[in-house]
Amino acid sequence: YSLETYVESRFTCWSYEPFSGQKLDSPNEGKAPGPWEVELRPREMFVDQDKELIVPHTSTVTPCHHCNAKGKTVCHKCRGKKLTRCGDCGGHGHKTVAQGAVLRKVDCGECDGQGKRRCPLCSGSGEETCTTCSGHQQLVFAVKLKCEWRGKNADYIEERTDLPDELVRDVTGKVIFEEEGELLTPISNFPISPVNRASKSLIGAHENSLKGQRVLRQRHNLRGIPVTEVHYEHEGRQGVFFVYGFENKLFAQGLPSGSCCSLL
Ligand SMILES: [Zn+2]
Ligand SMILES: [Zn+2]
Ligand SMILES: [Zn+2]
Ligand SMILES: [Zn+2]
Repeated sequence: YSLETYVESRFTCWSYEPFSGQKLDSPNEGKAPGPWEVELRPREMFVDQDKELIVPHTSTVTPCHHCNAKGKTVCHKCRGKKLTRCGDCGGHGHKTVAQGAVLRKVDCGECDGQGKRRCPLCSGSGEETCTTCSGHQQLVFAVKLKCEWRGKNADYIEERTDLPDELVRDVTGKVIFEEEGELLTPISNFPISPVNRASKSLIGAHENSLKGQRVLRQRHNLRGIPVTEVHYEHEGRQGVFFVYGFENKLFAQGLPSGSCCSLL
């Protein structure tokens, strides 16, 4: 028996971008919807995915907090001093040059012997454009809604032989029952009652694990996997092996796990 619950979570946070005169969807345009009132659907059911959007009617303009609405901040290279150390002379203002065999100190031509040059980043203004508002001095704040869709899986295996139960999970069997809907009711009329109990408890566990999320859709199915237990005697030794799944996979105790072969 396997159950899949497709769960939707929604989160909101503030987002901002520079205000450059773009058209605003402000609260004056209408009442902002709550996070669960916004229409947002996954592209395809039972596929994990995320989506984001700006909630309608939540955009407001505020002064930029990073530059105090000046549009500019202090240049981070020269820290507002407008000058940086000359890279050519290392800030000494002079260089040592060889004239024949004689070494002479001469003024650095790049900085005229000052050891400092105009800051190349701010061109000597000591300021740079604010990176938060891109120089626009104002920001548009709006509520961003993030939606996450995730599939949660659970299963129950009813298996009474000594075959390790998890082996039947990955093989093909006959689909006995299949159902999909918004919220499922547990299976209750299957002749093997542990299966009915498992259906009830797995569906209940998925419901109880929701934390402010909602179930979008559920599906469950019941598969019958053939398992044949074979006892053999070979050269006086007794043994047992199992054949399981429509693929006729073979399992024998003592074989290293993963070395399953198929019966031809
Ligand atoms: Zn220099
Ligand atoms: Zn600078
Ligand atoms: Zn700014
Ligand atoms: Zn078993």
